[in-house]
Parts: sequence; structure tokens; C-alpha cells
Amino acid sequence: MAIHNRPIAERIEWLIDLGREHSKRFCTPEAQLARRRYLASHDTALIALKCMDGRIHLPYATRTPPGIIRPFRNLGGIFDLGWPYLGEMLTDAVDTAVADGRRVLIMITYHYSRGAQSRGCAGFDCDLESAYRHARSIRDQVQSVYGDAHQTVYPLICGFETDLDALVLHGPTGNVLDLAKQTVTDRDTLTSELNSLLPDMPQQVLRDLLPLVEGNIRHVGELRHRDRQLDIEHHEWVICLGRGFDFLHVPNVALIIGPYSPDLSHPIRQAAGIIRSNMEQERIPDDGFLLLSSSPYDEHGADRARATLKSRFLAEFAAQVIRDAEPELSRRMIRRTAVLNWQTRRLEPLPDTPDRLHDFQ
Ligand SMILES: [Zn+2]
Repeated sequence: MAIHNRPIAERIEWLIDLGREHSKRFCTPEAQLARRRYLASHDTALIALKCMDGRIHLPYATRTPPGIIRPFRNLGGIFDLGWPYLGEMLTDAVDTAVADGRRVLIMITYHYSRGAQSRGCAGFDCDLESAYRHARSIRDQVQSVYGDAHQTVYPLICGFETDLDALVLHGPTGNVLDLAKQTVTDRDTLTSELNSLLPDMPQQVLRDLLPLVEGNIRHVGELRHRDRQLDIEHHEWVICLGRGFDFLHVPNVALIIGPYSPDLSHPIRQAAGIIRSNMEQERIPDDGFLLLSSSPYDEHGADRARATLKSRFLAEFAAQVIRDAEPELSRRMIRRTAVLNWQTRRLEPLPDTPDRLHDFQ
């Protein structure tokens, strides 16, 4: 039986195991050395702005080692660089890279399905044109902050076609390169295609984009031979709130909401609506869903203590929004709060206070 059809207690156990396995793999000498090697030979910092939709998984779709692409997730991939917390996080990421002499590639993604409009982005009512328009507005914001010559920070609009997990790269003049249609895979040809699509991209950034392009072409090639019916329909049963959900390498399990928008209640309500509709359409059992909050920390002591407060706040906040917006659904809410050790990527569940009757421990 597919995991999304199992009883909620089994699904939660499966999720916790997934986190544990991810941390174990992340910490192996082989994985740690692979990351170091990757970073040593590709020094462009990779940042991705993505929709919270669980199908949008860039490391998986581009065959990039976990921990290389830094994700920022929100409903519909909707961001505004004027949001104070997002602006600070992004500035921080760019400043750190630039201080080390590195360039930054910001992948601004939107998503759609080639097979059915209804499988598009819930954040834009499945309207591809609005999703794309929003991506363009973020690119304009990035340019207004970091300049339009793109020599240090390059904003790249990427469509993500979820039926095949294929990237669609947008050039500055409106040209596109649909990687699902890409048959040639030799490196020289790809390099020259990228050069003509993105003539203003610094060569170092282009060289660092190339492995993602190659990885996506290979990934799409393999997916074509698989039956993906289950993977392309919504069957999420987890709402994740906060940061540190890289371990969710399985598409369509979770709706991930970053802590960036000053109005977090909007994406939380939207996510709860998707979960309710998944239950109503019997895409998942209606015996429960998981609300999981997480905040990463680097060091034990004050840093971890603050992450604990943040995670608890996010869980309580989201639970209240869901209780108000979806009272019926909220009775099936199972809440877990956690912090994430950033060095080991280990999710550490926090003990909950006894008044939280619905908590799962
Ligand atoms: Zn979406």
C-alpha cells in the first residue's frame, strides 16, 4: 500500500524515519566529502525561491547533492523582497557568498503541469500566466536590489513542469529552453545553448548551472519510463512550517511554508484547504494530518533555545489559524514541534506541553 494511504500513526512514523535516514546519509563521510567536493568545484551560491508544493523538489529533479541549493519556500512561490525577514535572510545569504568572492544564482521558480491545467499551482488558482508574471516581478525586485548587469547576483526564472519534473529556463529576452525537449546532452552543445539563452550570465555561473541542467535532463529521461500517476496528483498530508525540511525528498507528502511572509496565516489557511480537499476527494485517509514545525539551530545553548521558542511559536500560531479557518479539519490535527541541528540535519522532536491534547508523542 502506498504510504499516503496508510493510517496516520504509520505515516508519522514513516516521516520520522525519513528524517532520521536523511540525517544519517547527510553525515556519512562519503556525503560530506561529496558536498565539499561539489562546493569546491562549483562556487556559485545557489538559492531557489519555490512554491510550498511538495512536488517542487529541485535537488531531486536536478540530481544535486542535498545541502547545495538553499531553498526558500512559500505558497505559490509568492515572495516580496520587501518582506523584512525574507529580505534579511536573502541579504545574509548573498553577503556571505560575496564576502567569500562567490557569485549568486537565484532561481525564481513557478510551476505548472503540461498534462492538465488543474494540476498547476494552487497558489495562483492553476493559472500559469499569473504564476509566470509573479516570477518576473520577483526578478525585477532582485534586479532593483542587486543590479541589472547580473555580474554578481543572477536572477534566473525557471518553470518547473511537474508531470516530468522538467525545468524550463527563461532567458532575458523572452526565449525559453525546455529541458524536457532537450535531446542533446553533450556538454559543449549544452554550454552553447545556455550561452545563447543567457548571454548576460557570467561564465562561472553558467558552468555551475550546467550540472543542474544535465541532471534534470537525465532525471526527465528516466521519469518518462515510469508510471507517475500517483506522483502528480495532490496527496499531501503534512503541513510543515518553518525551515529545515530538506529531508522530505519525497514529492507530494508535505506543504512546506517558510517563515518569511509577514502574513503567515494566508499560506497556512491555503495549505489546510488543500489537506481538507485531499481528504474530501479521498486522495488520503481522513484519520488525521500532521502539523510539523521546525527551526534550525547551529549551536547548543542560546541558539538552540531560541530555535525552540520559534518552533513552538510557529506551531501554536498555525494551530490557531487552522482551528479558526477549518474547525472540522483541526480536530484531526496532530501536532509535532521540532528543532533541526543544522550541522547534522537531524530533526529533534521537542516535548510538548500537556494542554495540547491533540499532540502526538
Ligand atoms: Zn504552487
